[in-house]
Amino acid sequence: MADSPDQVVHFLRDLAQRARPFAEKDMAELRDFARDECDLPDLQAWDVAYVSEKLKEARYAFSDQEVKQYFTEPTVLKGLFGLIEKLFEVQIQPDSAPVWHESVRFFRIERAGQLIGQFYLDPYARVGKRPGAWMDDVRGRWTRPDTQGTQTPVAHLVCNFAKGVGDKPALLTHDDVTTLFHEFGHGLHHMLTQVNDIGVSGISGVEWDAVELPSQFMENFCWEWDVVHQLTSHVDTGAHLPRALFDKMVAAKNFQSGMQTLRQIEFSLFDMRLHAEPESDANVQKVVDEVRAEVAVNIPPAFNRFQHSFSHIFAGGYAAGYYSYKWAEVLSADAYAAFEEAATAESGVLSPEVGRRYRETILEAGGSRSAMENFKAFRGREPRIDALLRHQGMS
Ligand SMILES: [Zn+2]
Repeated sequence: MADSPDQVVHFLRDLAQRARPFAEKDMAELRDFARDECDLPDLQAWDVAYVSEKLKEARYAFSDQEVKQYFTEPTVLKGLFGLIEKLFEVQIQPDSAPVWHESVRFFRIERAGQLIGQFYLDPYARVGKRPGAWMDDVRGRWTRPDTQGTQTPVAHLVCNFAKGVGDKPALLTHDDVTTLFHEFGHGLHHMLTQVNDIGVSGISGVEWDAVELPSQFMENFCWEWDVVHQLTSHVDTGAHLPRALFDKMVAAKNFQSGMQTLRQIEFSLFDMRLHAEPESDANVQKVVDEVRAEVAVNIPPAFNRFQHSFSHIFAGGYAAGYYSYKWAEVLSADAYAAFEEAATAESGVLSPEVGRRYRETILEAGGSRSAMENFKAFRGREPRIDALLRHQGMS
């Protein structure tokens, strides 16, 4: 999606400049805490992770176990399906198909009685199952040359949640819920497509620095009070998540967001310069040093050889692509901001009009146009970094 290394470097430097005051504030807060509470008057690079953990515990701690009691699986799924139905003008219903395990469920997505797509949901961890969470396509949408009929898309949505104990429903952590929304974002990208050419329908043919837009977009709803409220009912009492607990979760999410942003930029800028500058392979340490001097607030000691274990960019498929994490966050936050801007008292952020526009320009169009064209068709302009900064408490 990015046109040139220059465009990426410019984006990273712009973001670094905007995040810097917040990172400096994070660092100052950490130094104060180290001095006052940890007997470390001269905080060193190797103390940062430990002291950060202590500070987080002291200021922003909440119990994952307590939060879990509210995110009961049937309520979460009902809330998620309801949100998708309202935003994207579809209905999700149970369907039937042969499955590979008794806990796997099958659903169909319809609009006005017409089948649009189907998906398998395999939510629970079990012995022998691959860990993690992912969406994968079973088949894509296309006009079949043999029958001239439309083949509708089918997806797998796979997670590894802990199954409910006894007759209790599964209880999801907030991370689990976010993961579920994320994978559904990929799933919707694949299943709501209206493209009939298999090479560019659904998630096919989408630039890989834009594939996380629909998934990270969905994560935003997990931080929206009106939505989260609807996703919760306490396993014993049926009560919604208390607002005070939610506020603590948001504060913990934004903990050290300035420092974390600069750290991601440090990795991204190092990666991009390494691949874009012809002489850099002979000067790896020099490039690291320069990037750190430019963006880092926490400079590691001279003997640090971070670059030797940055396997993402030489063994992880992210060569000259590490920036895409932040890039996709900017896109998804800015797309979500369109919903925030259109929010009303009665429907909150779930505006059907904006939902329709998002669906038609981004989800349904998929790889049939460039990701930038899709984004501009939705937003009426190129992406801006403001929404991401605001969502992460940096504004
Ligand atoms: Zn993803």
